[in-house]
Amino acid sequence: MNLIIMGAPGSGKGTQAALICKAHSLPHISTGDLLRKNIADGTELGKQAKSFMDAGKLVPDELVLALLKDRIEQADCKNGFLLDGFPRNKAQADALGKIVTIDTALNLETDLNKLADRMASRRVCLKCGYTTSAQDAPDGKCKVCGDTLVIRDDDKREVVENRLKVYAENTAPLVQYYKEKGVLKNIDGMQTIEQVNNAIEAALK
Ligand code: AMP
Repeated sequence: MNLIIMGAPGSGKGTQAALICKAHSLPHISTGDLLRKNIADGTELGKQAKSFMDAGKLVPDELVLALLKDRIEQADCKNGFLLDGFPRNKAQADALGKIVTIDTALNLETDLNKLADRMASRRVCLKCGYTTSAQDAPDGKCKVCGDTLVIRDDDKREVVENRLKVYAENTAPLVQYYKEKGVLKNIDGMQTIEQVNNAIEAALK
């Protein structure tokens, strides 16, 4: 099962991706998490990607593609995977289509006007990628590994607007792209986490 989960920044992709991967024993491949890990580890790739990410821009395709190919070729992806945050534009989708066949592209439909607030309260663990909201983690600690939760540099209000613009211009057209390929499943992403998850599971059956 080769899956993609798409949706605007703050649509809950990462949260839903983690639930799907747990239920179906699939590796969760988030290019955003891979990039943040490279930044935290101080790698050359991380250094090159950081300024783009901090500005809410897409990291150049060649950097992200190299990262993705490297990850998808690992043994745990042999029987399937879930891509979260990739592809982000048509060039990436075309490149992906040359390496693997995508069975289903899940698209979380959201109200773009409400996403800025969601992102303002988002908290992430840079160690394990766990994501939650400030309200759900009043002690500021990761529920999974105990590390300190932080606000992503690119979740600051001034950057969020740019990320939503980049999404509308580059990534939203991929909904039509995968519809034409006959693999698109639209999901109402404005429901509770559990309801969205149920709708996804029904779509995957
Ligand atoms: P995310 O965690 O998916 O919201 O990604 C955070 C940031 O990482 C994005 O705003 C981009 O700067 C960068 N990024 C993640 N995935 C990609 C991708 N597939 N192509 C280009 N940039 C990406």
